[in-house]
Amino acid sequence: MIETRGADRVRRATDRGEREVSLNASAPASSALPWAPAAGETGSAGQVLALIRAAGALTRADIAARTGLARQTVGNRLDALQAAGYVTLASTTSTARGRPPVQFRFRPDGGVLLVAEAGATGIRAAVTDLAGAVLHDVRSALDVTIGPRRWLAALDVVFDDLLGRAGRAATDVRGIGLALPGPIDFERAVVVSPPIMTGWDEYPIRSWFEGRYPCPVLVENDANAMAVGEYRAFHTHRSSVLMLKLATGVGAGIIADGRLYRGFDGAAGDIGHIQITPPDDDGDPPLCRCGNRGCIEAYAGGWAIIRDLNAGGRAVGSVREVVGLVSAGDPLATALSRRAGRLVGIALSDAVSLLNPGVVIVGGALSAAANELFAGLRESVYARSLPLATRRLEIVAARLGDGAGVSGLTTTVTDHVFDPARVDAALARSGG
Ligand SMILES: [Zn+2]
Repeated sequence: MIETRGADRVRRATDRGEREVSLNASAPASSALPWAPAAGETGSAGQVLALIRAAGALTRADIAARTGLARQTVGNRLDALQAAGYVTLASTTSTARGRPPVQFRFRPDGGVLLVAEAGATGIRAAVTDLAGAVLHDVRSALDVTIGPRRWLAALDVVFDDLLGRAGRAATDVRGIGLALPGPIDFERAVVVSPPIMTGWDEYPIRSWFEGRYPCPVLVENDANAMAVGEYRAFHTHRSSVLMLKLATGVGAGIIADGRLYRGFDGAAGDIGHIQITPPDDDGDPPLCRCGNRGCIEAYAGGWAIIRDLNAGGRAVGSVREVVGLVSAGDPLATALSRRAGRLVGIALSDAVSLLNPGVVIVGGALSAAANELFAGLRESVYARSLPLATRRLEIVAARLGDGAGVSGLTTTVTDHVFDPARVDAALARSGG
């Protein structure tokens, strides 16, 4: 199912006219199943659902074999899951040789999810089914710097519209996921001391949605959401992955041993504020948006490149315009992009030495200036990291475009909503 889901996302990405990609058909299936029985585990209804979600569809005999449960117990678990709307009978075609065994499959239409990824200047929002397939989506020029009250009120209108287009009500929403470009305390769903998002510090996002939607609300860092999206769609055969987001700011998401690594407080991956001394620069380190001097972002973030281009007489105001200049062969924009790649590569090589990822995925609006950036990145990483950490390392472009965040959010939200313990608790509440 995970492989199939990846293929669906590729298809959706290519349907939108993005870069053509091909799935490596020989890639081994994911080992990161939501749940697999260990010795002595009971095989609760929630755990049976996790097996069905991972496999796509299973027969009673499949489930009995995988859990070690008695057939009668399997039947009870399936009855409870079916009554609560989590699973349904898969359509089977009867043959002349007799009826095939009944299969149970996860019901993606048992509700919807609402997700939104915010960049510095715009959002991409979607209503999806419970398997993460996008039903309707929208891009909107909504700027996080207007503050949480106005931003959330505007998002609410977008969510209302998406629900209307899907023919669904607020009571159908099973989970909400937001990705924001700042330091996020995931447990509490708050932004903590963001360098650019004025007014967001400790704002109670979860309680803003309470009363509107009877469901969990998860808030994720944008680079983390992209990391999960790209990883689950294309890279589950590499257990450790680093997602580098190059846009207005610079951030990273870390997948370690198949799981998103948020760190102790949620601050892991904040690579943009690592301070460096560029080998080609003996002037005063530039001031960063965070208030420190000499951060990676202050040299290589989209906003810093715009600053340097303006100083060089180029009238650009957005990352898109920077990419346009690079594509048009502007020598200053080209030189600055290559230098940005080299300088980000300094911090990246430290991250590679520390984490030994199998793949570094480079995404974000600035990564569209790919050739220059990639040349600089590779130059630094291969010069500075030890051969054992780089001999199998791949540095690749993100493939989901601006769909990576939305895709990652649906995965994070469904993993949360369909966590076996949560499903068991919901069934117990409903008397199942
Ligand atoms: Zn900084």
